[in-house]
Amino acid sequence: MATDFTSLVLEIFKKCAGRSGCEVCREHMEEDCLFFPEMYRLHDLAEETGTPPSDRDLASLVDLCTLCGLCPCQDIRILVLKAKAARAQDKIIPLSARLLSDARQAGRWGTVFSTIINPLNQLKPVSAMAKKALDIHPERSLPAFPEESFFAWAQKKGLTAPVKRAEQDTSRVAYFAGCSAGYLFPDVAKAAVGLLEQNGIQVFVPSQDCCSMPLIMEGNQPEATKRIQANLETLGGCMQKGYDIVCSCPTCGYFFKKMLKETAYYSEAFQHRADAGGNRMQVPTGSRDKKFTFVPMDIYKTFLKDDGYFSSIDPLQRIDLSLNIQDLGEYLLARHKTGELSISLKKPDRPLAYFAPCHQREQNIGHPYVEIIQSLPGTDIIPVGGEMLCCGMGGHLGFKTGFHDHSLAIGGPLFDRLAAASGRTLVTDCLSCRMQLQHMFSRQVFHPLELLTAV
Ligand code: SF4
Ligand code: SF4
Repeated sequence: MATDFTSLVLEIFKKCAGRSGCEVCREHMEEDCLFFPEMYRLHDLAEETGTPPSDRDLASLVDLCTLCGLCPCQDIRILVLKAKAARAQDKIIPLSARLLSDARQAGRWGTVFSTIINPLNQLKPVSAMAKKALDIHPERSLPAFPEESFFAWAQKKGLTAPVKRAEQDTSRVAYFAGCSAGYLFPDVAKAAVGLLEQNGIQVFVPSQDCCSMPLIMEGNQPEATKRIQANLETLGGCMQKGYDIVCSCPTCGYFFKKMLKETAYYSEAFQHRADAGGNRMQVPTGSRDKKFTFVPMDIYKTFLKDDGYFSSIDPLQRIDLSLNIQDLGEYLLARHKTGELSISLKKPDRPLAYFAPCHQREQNIGHPYVEIIQSLPGTDIIPVGGEMLCCGMGGHLGFKTGFHDHSLAIGGPLFDRLAAASGRTLVTDCLSCRMQLQHMFSRQVFHPLELLTAV
């Protein structure tokens, strides 16, 4: 296996597991993810025996990271991504992983041939063969494809054409639905459009590609880069035309807001635009990039560089999208607070339990849907889960034969909490969490948008 891969993983060991590793992570990450405990185990074993971990151990270790984002350091997650990409360069990505991680292609074909695929999936021998071919764990149910994708529906409804000029003085959003809502759960995306339109907000559904999280989790950096560039072009064009950019998928939101802009502020292009003057660089002081400071350029430019995972992509486009895209809940809550939103629950007397997915929590926007629902008279919603619990699904990873058991092990503590809320309807805005919770509890799980309507 490529030394590049090995040295990248060992760099994580150096930062997190050795003497320089942080005690806080030793204490907390033991319980909250599978990657850290395995890394500590391998590290301690190597210290004891004097034999470094094998490449095979390191490869299995990297497979344990779901990019949930719960560990404190972004650069550690980026090192994991780089290691995955280095491994994929060295070893061809299996066809099954390529198919599973290409959410857009799988969704397109799945919806086009849904009338053939869905009945076949009901036949046990066929479904077993399909799972085997795709390396899907036998206990997982294959998703049923809708007959029409959200994107086909949006096109019929005229939403894929830009908003007309005459209507340009009203609020306009460009809606990034994401592949899960687009191809597997179109009712969620339709609910988003319905609520926006009921509130007089014009919706444009621009052409969109997968956000690329599943691809980068499989180490498919070249394909991910192409798709990210296509999305940046389209969404950048929408920003220039004055659309608010919203997305309803927490993973897409986390990716665009947090991951993609990694190191972009250190780029020459941003420094040129910031024009800090003299021999200075302007750099963010924390991960939320709300505050900036100035540092001497001649000292810092040697190690503050835009040389990360996404550095082949225009840094200004990455920054601009990260600053302008909003989670739809965040967008709705802001309007609700200013009295501009007409909103109610379809069934206000139904008690709800809301799980905030990891990628939603990592956006640091609070829990907007909970805030909205709690503010409506007579409603009953409780958040369940806490700051560090993860469902363990990791997008498509939970389907994979080799990850299924890990996925359930990660989600175990959350499942216990949700089981205690069995009298409540389960609500979460991540459709990957939804598949995991439906697998565990055989109960319907809703996106908050499906429960909301205008008054
Ligand atoms: S993730 Fe960050 S805080 Fe945690 S051990 Fe690694 S370097 Fe330290
Ligand atoms: S992103 Fe999540 S799974 Fe990966 S190392 Fe961090 S906490 Fe663990």
